[in-house]
Amino acid sequence: MRPQAEHCWKLSRSLAIARRPIGASGRWRRRERVFSSPASLVLFCTFILGAVLGSTLASTSAAQEVNYSRPVAAAPQPESIGADYQLPAVQHVPPRGQGQYALDVVLLVAAMAAVAYACHRGRRRMLVTATTLLALGYFGFWRQGCVCPIGATQNVAASLADPTVGIPWVVIAFFFLPLGATLLFGRVFCGGACALGAIQDVVVLRPVQLPLWVDRWLGKFRYVYLAAAVWFAVQPAPARDFIICRFDPFIGVFRLSGTPWVIGVGVGLLALGTFIGRPYCRFLCPYGGLLAVVSRFAWRAVSITPDREIDCRLCSTACPFGAIENCRASRTACLACARCFASCPRQHAVWNGETACNIGPAPLVELSPPPREPEEVLV
Ligand code: SF4
Ligand code: SF4
Repeated sequence: MRPQAEHCWKLSRSLAIARRPIGASGRWRRRERVFSSPASLVLFCTFILGAVLGSTLASTSAAQEVNYSRPVAAAPQPESIGADYQLPAVQHVPPRGQGQYALDVVLLVAAMAAVAYACHRGRRRMLVTATTLLALGYFGFWRQGCVCPIGATQNVAASLADPTVGIPWVVIAFFFLPLGATLLFGRVFCGGACALGAIQDVVVLRPVQLPLWVDRWLGKFRYVYLAAAVWFAVQPAPARDFIICRFDPFIGVFRLSGTPWVIGVGVGLLALGTFIGRPYCRFLCPYGGLLAVVSRFAWRAVSITPDREIDCRLCSTACPFGAIENCRASRTACLACARCFASCPRQHAVWNGETACNIGPAPLVELSPPPREPEEVLV
């Protein structure tokens, strides 16, 4: 057993001694009702799929209204360029069938639902870890990081600025579904459905806590990056650029190809991520900045305890992302990774079949022994 887990366990036992009944009704019971039955989970999935269907129909009908004409009549061919000319190898991911896109969307919804269930109902890290690994394998290495909502931000901005820019339904779905899920349950997309987050999550080995002001100030760069990405995306066609995709640090790792310096940045971020948890998510990701704003209004944000806080501060060192402030999970910074649950004495009580609400406030004496009497010191 790890020292911290052992310490948590000891404290949970000591807290169990200092029980304080506070009643069986009230806030903690209401929190337990998230996904309290399979029907509510089905309802959530139905809502999400309905949103996908609605966005698909809307985008299809909007696209049919646009009169699009190809600006270039005919692209140069090897015959017109010269006999020795060779067509270059295709550099982009080849187009996929609609069925494959539909599968992508279904798996995205399933991954977010699994993380939401793990954070709000199951309250176990294991399910989040499994989802993270599957997302890394499927959306990362198998689908090669495309489509992803981070890059979709630019497609949405470009299509809003220029109606001749088409936008596939799957891009709309990937952009809006994580926003909707965040509005319901916090940043569950970041918790285990994002390939870029997943590849950083698996390398978190010995995280250190950054000073809060460093964390927050570096985090503001996400919004600068977001503004720059939108600015370049809404430019007229010749000047338009999708800088998020161009400088995506992990796409080269997923595709095992790319310019050396982009792959180098990706590998460097992964190396940095072994002791500074998810640096791209916290300081660079523009879509993460959007999710942070939306998560302020989340219906059910992640809560460290299964019922109510006792302010023992044991969770503060458990979060590798600096997302716990004053013993509370910050709505905007919490990445729904479920790591902090195991550090909570009240969570341990629930896992042991006890009623967590009967455990009272933390006796601070357990954490900091009382000073000895002067006469003891003299002796
Ligand atoms: S912050 Fe960005 S990169 Fe990180 S998990 Fe969230 S969406 Fe993915
Ligand atoms: S507070 Fe930290 S450890 Fe807990 S779920 Fe959020 S990001 Fe993970």
